[in-house]
Amino acid sequence: MVVVAVGAGLVGGIGRVDVVSRDDPLLHAARTSAPATTHERRTACSVRAYPLRARAATSKSRFVTTRMMRAMKYVVFVPDGCADVPLPELGGRTPLEAARMPRLAALASNAAVGRAAVIPPGLPPGSDVGNMSILGFDPARYHTGRAPIEAAAMGVELEPDQVAYRCNLVALSDEAVPIMVDFAAGHPTNAQSHPIVAALDAALGDGRAGVRFHPGVEYRHLCVVPRAWIDAECIPPHDLTGQPAVFPRGASAPYVNALMDASRAVVRDAARSVGSSATQIWLWGQGVKPALPSFAATFGVQGRMSSAVDLVQGLGVLTGIEVVDVPGATAGFDNDYGAQAQACIRSLADRDLFVLHIEATDEAGHQGRSDIKVDALERWDTEVIGPVVDALDAGDEPYRILLLPDHATPCDTKTHSADPVPYLLYDSSRSGSGRSGSGRSGSGGCYTEPATARCTPVPGHSLMARLLEA
Ligand SMILES: [Zn+2]
Repeated sequence: MVVVAVGAGLVGGIGRVDVVSRDDPLLHAARTSAPATTHERRTACSVRAYPLRARAATSKSRFVTTRMMRAMKYVVFVPDGCADVPLPELGGRTPLEAARMPRLAALASNAAVGRAAVIPPGLPPGSDVGNMSILGFDPARYHTGRAPIEAAAMGVELEPDQVAYRCNLVALSDEAVPIMVDFAAGHPTNAQSHPIVAALDAALGDGRAGVRFHPGVEYRHLCVVPRAWIDAECIPPHDLTGQPAVFPRGASAPYVNALMDASRAVVRDAARSVGSSATQIWLWGQGVKPALPSFAATFGVQGRMSSAVDLVQGLGVLTGIEVVDVPGATAGFDNDYGAQAQACIRSLADRDLFVLHIEATDEAGHQGRSDIKVDALERWDTEVIGPVVDALDAGDEPYRILLLPDHATPCDTKTHSADPVPYLLYDSSRSGSGRSGSGRSGSGGCYTEPATARCTPVPGHSLMARLLEA
């Protein structure tokens, strides 16, 4: 109740963000060597020159009280996997160093810039873990697996006695010890894969023995099973590409392996009729529904988000952050950055916080394409950071921006790493002029991996509390 009243009280102030169109409905790092220069050393310490206090997100009443006293807008920018390592093809620079990003540089020069450990020790360096950190929830406490987050994004409600498994359609070879030929079974279309999943559910699921299959996107589907199936050590199929398949182990593995074995005949028959190369299912990433608290109840701020990635959307569903459907937002290089920026600007008219996540930088990392990563970062600068900051500057409310990736995806290894990533925390009311584009340097911050290499990493989940504190 308190949170709703606070949110309503701020709407009047928000109307002053000039560029907001109220008629337009919302459709719904661094492995580098230590810094060498004086500038870099100063930058590495800039976090200490800007003393926002880190603390755990536990004091609900303090956040709510703060909201009632002062209007503030909050934007969280997440360039997925943008952190990288120095690359030979970029002259020994990282993509963040090589990209021309004047708007980001202007923010950084007035911001707290440091390093964040978004992936807690022992957890997989995935977007599920990293984005949970960014939203302010400690994955070491709340993360149960990626599949239950995907289930939330798909609208599949898990009961306490159920476990969700990610169900890939995969292609294995026919050898005695089969090779994982393709973890994505040739990337079938939904028109190809959904009949296969329907056949699986008809033959092996539909609630029998508590098993149900749910169609997802392309090769990525969901299998809900009884909780007794949870205790299995399952290797993600993309980690087995070109190698002998290592089947699940552990106390519950007999259940899992029996279902995967039984899937072969069903998948091969159904795949043949739709022209797919899938040979069976591969179950992994399992977990029960995580007990994530409401974001609004935890932090006293109502938020919205835009992301084309199901894992990020699922975290929004599970924490009560409204997921905005932005036409043109994709997980590929064809993403409409401007559409996501405009959705953010419109949302700030009546909500105080917006999370804007774009996948393209991660995809470029997976493809080992530093040129595309640089291009994606420059599009962030001109099509997202610039317009959003201009809109915020045109309004009367002070604002804060938190920018960091959910993990690093170095172009040289083409996969995620658990290395800490650079973060940027900007406050328009503490930046000297109050305007990010002034060029005045309060901290001398520089948002790159080498510039932050000497910063002691802070827990990634502590940053949301810093963003929102008084
Ligand atoms: Zn990735």
